[in-house]
Amino acid sequence: MGLDEVTAGIARACGRTGRDPAGVTLVAVSKVQPEERVRAVLRAGHRVFGENRVQEAEGRWTPLRGEFPDVRLHLVGPLQTNKARAAMGFFDAIHTVDRPKLARTLARLRDEGERCPDLFVQVNTGEEPQKAGVAPAEADALVAECRSLALPLVGLMCIPPAEEEPSPHFALLRKIAERNGLSGLSMGMSGDYDAAIGQGATHVRVGSAVFGAREA
Ligand SMILES: *Cc1c(COP(=O)(O)O)cnc(C)c1O
Repeated sequence: MGLDEVTAGIARACGRTGRDPAGVTLVAVSKVQPEERVRAVLRAGHRVFGENRVQEAEGRWTPLRGEFPDVRLHLVGPLQTNKARAAMGFFDAIHTVDRPKLARTLARLRDEGERCPDLFVQVNTGEEPQKAGVAPAEADALVAECRSLALPLVGLMCIPPAEEEPSPHFALLRKIAERNGLSGLSMGMSGDYDAAIGQGATHVRVGSAVFGAREA
């Protein structure tokens, strides 16, 4: 199945660059996928999944978590502040902290007693107007703001422009992470996770290569 191929692909990419595959987390992005495909990947033993919408994730994973309590869920889609509390209660990691207002909301909810998941700041490396993420020139400031709020920031995330060679975007994300002393790099999807691993990805978000093509 796709899971085995992607796992092997991650091992190959690590081998090429002298990295330990244990340093790369495969986030299997299960958004929109039929439940039987998700169950097959669970039965194969995989436990880390990504979703892009809070409510869809709750609907699918609340029952599945009853059966597989060690599942870890990562939010990889945009987060509105009015869904922040639900997301904090449900996800183990949020990859899409993309603006100061969201960081302040997460910190306030944490102060009110919510557990805060691991956080990644999303950087819009291609500066695409339609895409979420902070501009590269503003990334340091958002990282600093997260730290001043004592949020559990673990790294950066990016989605390179669809029409461009992704490696320069991965390299830019790594450079911003390095100068900010962040070790987590959420980058690489079905088409480019091997290139991302070559540039230091610690989390690859892979959907269709694991589960098959998404039906719209
Ligand atoms: C859907 C999605 C993915 C997975 O995309 P594939 O091309 O199917 O691997 C990764 N990251 C984000 C943010 C996504 O929305």
